[in-house]
Amino acid sequence: MRGKLTVGNWKMNGGLTANSALFSALRTGWKAPKGREMGLCVPFPYLAQAREALSGSAIGWGAQDVSAHAAGAYTGEVSAGMLVEFGCRYVLVGHSERRQFHGEADADVGAKAAAALAAGIVPLVCMGETLAERDAGQTLAVVGRQFDAAAAVLGVQLARIVVAYEPVWAIGTGRTASPSEAQAVHGFLRQQLVAAGAAEVKVLYGGSVKAANAAELFAMPDIDGGLVGGASLDAKEFLAIAAA
Ligand code: PEP
Repeated sequence: MRGKLTVGNWKMNGGLTANSALFSALRTGWKAPKGREMGLCVPFPYLAQAREALSGSAIGWGAQDVSAHAAGAYTGEVSAGMLVEFGCRYVLVGHSERRQFHGEADADVGAKAAAALAAGIVPLVCMGETLAERDAGQTLAVVGRQFDAAAAVLGVQLARIVVAYEPVWAIGTGRTASPSEAQAVHGFLRQQLVAAGAAEVKVLYGGSVKAANAAELFAMPDIDGGLVGGASLDAKEFLAIAAA
């Protein structure tokens, strides 16, 4: 039984005072129902605050990116070992905003996932097609290519990741994939995972998930929870999504 996992991606949002209120509301409000897990991926400077606020709770925390390198002359980067020192359970890799604005390629994403796993952190490996790719009928080809690139680097370690299917056209746009559109891609990813001997890997859906649409998305057989951007900044909304 895979259970459901909902992870918030704060993106480049937050501030010490607002974070404090959000952490506290989530810590108080999250009753960790059986089979449900919650995580938060916060900007690097707030990892210490997340550790302070969430230690001893059922809520895991993590970062939004990680270097593929362990140490050295990589100005501006943060290693997986550093994330471990701040208690990170999760890290996002290959988010579409990293691919789009920072030129991350499939090979970089696989290397980052491998670095996270080597340090004992669960990488949430993000993949998804653009609107142009969907309109051209290339959704499964694109997602399949992104999946294969990660699987080739990770080998048997693939079984330790979480996959996040995030159609780029649904991220931050208010436009959500319908449950059946999402399930079609999740079912495809599940087949790839089964074939790779990693049937128990969770596949999260991300893209304008809200309390109002989470239950019908999460009811799909191959959707194992959500990766939630904007709505994760509102405690009431995020708690409702995680419990959906
Ligand atoms: C995301 O940032 O991964 C995301 C899915 O954003 P949103 O929920 O705002 O679409």
